[in-house]
Amino acid sequence: MLVRKAIEVSGIVQGVGFRPYIYRLAGERQLAGSICNTAAGVSIEVQGPPGAVDDFLSRLPAEAPPLARITAITVREIPCNGAIDFRIVTTHHGQPVSTLISPDVAVCADCLREMFDLADRRYRYPFINCTNCGPRFTLVCNIPYDRSFTSMAAFRMCPTCQAEYDDPRNRRFHAQPNACWTCGPQVELWDLEGKPVEVADPIAETVTRLQRGDVVAIKGLGGFHLACDAPNAVAVSTLRERKRRVEKPFAVMVPDIDAAQRFCELDEAARGLLVSPQRPIVLLRRREGTPIADEVAPFNRYLGVFLPYTPLHHLLFAEGRFTALVMTSANMSEEPICIANDEAVRRLQTLADCFLVHNRDILLRCDDSVIRVSGARARQLRRSRGFVPVPVFLSEDVPSILAVGGELKNTICLTKGRHAFLSQHIGDLENAESYSFFEEAIEHLQRILEIRPVAIAYDLHPNYFSTRWALAQSGLPQIGVQHHHAHIASCMAENHLDGRVIGIALDGTGYGADGRIWGGEVLLADYNSFERAAHLAYVPMPGGEAAIREPWRMAVAYLVRHFGCEFVRRLPALSNIPRQKLDVLFRMMEQGINSPLTSSCGRLFDAVAALAGIRHHVNYEAQAAVELEMAIGNSSDESAYPFELVAKAEDWIIGTRGLFDALLRDLSRDVQIGDISRRFHNGLVEALADVAKRLRERSGLERVCLSGGTFQNVYLCERLCDRLGNDNFQVFSQSEVPAGDGGLSLGQALVAVHKIR
Ligand code: ZN
Ligand code: ZN
Ligand code: FE
Repeated sequence: MLVRKAIEVSGIVQGVGFRPYIYRLAGERQLAGSICNTAAGVSIEVQGPPGAVDDFLSRLPAEAPPLARITAITVREIPCNGAIDFRIVTTHHGQPVSTLISPDVAVCADCLREMFDLADRRYRYPFINCTNCGPRFTLVCNIPYDRSFTSMAAFRMCPTCQAEYDDPRNRRFHAQPNACWTCGPQVELWDLEGKPVEVADPIAETVTRLQRGDVVAIKGLGGFHLACDAPNAVAVSTLRERKRRVEKPFAVMVPDIDAAQRFCELDEAARGLLVSPQRPIVLLRRREGTPIADEVAPFNRYLGVFLPYTPLHHLLFAEGRFTALVMTSANMSEEPICIANDEAVRRLQTLADCFLVHNRDILLRCDDSVIRVSGARARQLRRSRGFVPVPVFLSEDVPSILAVGGELKNTICLTKGRHAFLSQHIGDLENAESYSFFEEAIEHLQRILEIRPVAIAYDLHPNYFSTRWALAQSGLPQIGVQHHHAHIASCMAENHLDGRVIGIALDGTGYGADGRIWGGEVLLADYNSFERAAHLAYVPMPGGEAAIREPWRMAVAYLVRHFGCEFVRRLPALSNIPRQKLDVLFRMMEQGINSPLTSSCGRLFDAVAALAGIRHHVNYEAQAAVELEMAIGNSSDESAYPFELVAKAEDWIIGTRGLFDALLRDLSRDVQIGDISRRFHNGLVEALADVAKRLRERSGLERVCLSGGTFQNVYLCERLCDRLGNDNFQVFSQSEVPAGDGGLSLGQALVAVHKIR
């Protein structure tokens, strides 16, 4: 007796070797039938003895190719026919195909084995790939995902490659970037004028130059890296000076997982991330006494580490000449990553000593992703290469929205059906190059995802470039979304929540509904609307933007508010600030000149960091807060600085007088910075838990969502999650989507979805 079943598989199942996989799986069980691509995924029919068909069905999801991502499988019984073999039915142009494109992933073990096999025809070929690995997203200019719509269209396959491509039993069946030494892309070493350097082996020459301390711009998957030898302090300092990047840490690429283990503390979760096909940069606590130069990550206890992910990276490390290479996005600070060869020569001339380029074009830039592990959870700090364009899966079908994100760490989001596509990291829009990338990404993603939005969502800040862009688009409804409401909606969407929640949104800056700078907010929110139920008390930011770069100004602002000018003048902790500067600040605040009011949590961290003696000036965003968190020692001190809760009408204001009182007392008793930092964090957790409980009494809500850039602080996030959990709240935080402004566009999109309904 035979049975025949029709199986629909949806998710990322095209361009990832799914059809040959099914062909093999059916063949091994002597099942007849067929497979073809459809708009939602693939459609399969199998026919054979019931036992064999059941076995096929149970193995199908379990053994799927590594790049496949199955979201649903439906099976129904259909009448048998006379079929005797299994066939792959190829898609013809014009037929609907899935718009889910695989992200770029690391070269697989099979390809690496071939690349280092002297007898293989692709021995040392830097562009080796197969259906299980290699570039995807960054090569695609249109859909369907087919070679003619990728930057591989310029390369005509040789007969041997073509035979692999056409053979369903070959692991390069329909591998669109398939290539070899004869027919595919090649590398060249270029000098600063963009002229090829005559050398037999450009990669070997690159290794030599890196070893002698040069900075080399190396073309990768989603853009160029600037590389130098990580133990070489002179080379690293040179790179810092040229890039004008004073202290912000550089990421390092290490040859293998053992090296990562030698340099950093690794747990299972971190290990899994490092070797995953996505190969993100993972932030890890560094060990003492590594050979990596201090200049790589000054004042930082963490190191951003990643493993080689392109064949070219593996070739650079192959001879074992490097313990670690600095690999940082090739750009001036905060500009977008550089992708084209001529663009590299133009933009990187003052940064690099030479260029290792190739002629496979990158069609869309995509930075490395950055992840931090907290508890057993991976939390995205920058979601880019390896993850984009895998959608965030939503709990229901939604209309198509374009959400344009915030200003810093911008991403955009496009929704379609049950999918929310967050773009790769775009960057800080105040910079002209990033702004063009922003426009380019909107256009490109709409095309390859086939999305025509019916509305645009934007941040309420009138001066954000993304806001101005959105308001300049005519013909579509425009929906403004408050910054912290968007943060909470982002957390809700990621966790498939609906209805109303208590939302704790903590960050540096977001435009408030009252025109002030918000950032320490507790909301009662659903997708449609929110109520600001509690917030940190307002303080002035003397000097506006300058107060962000100089945390000591926030210390002064808080102390003047609580204890007056005379007290601040006599305070030992601020004695190294010139008296004149203090007087200017006092006057600014007194007369309200350039001193906008803020409830920002980031600025509160700045004030505490400055008083604790961590730093008075920052060289990159949130540096003082990051260093304050890192200062927390291993003590088991459970004490907490007190915050005051003051009722104001229906709402609560979170006051900080008790906190600063206790902090100054600790300073005068020479309490260690580690304990001061811990007590501050503990105090903030207690205050927020207290607010949550009062809001539960008032509203009956038991679900709490945590979002905003401050929750990238692992100590705060974990401790608050635990604390609220102990109080019987259901706590939700972000992990797949960044809690910072990189995740903002997702929340904007979901708010807009509900507002246009
Ligand atoms: Zn491979
Ligand atoms: Zn070939
Ligand atoms: Fe924010």
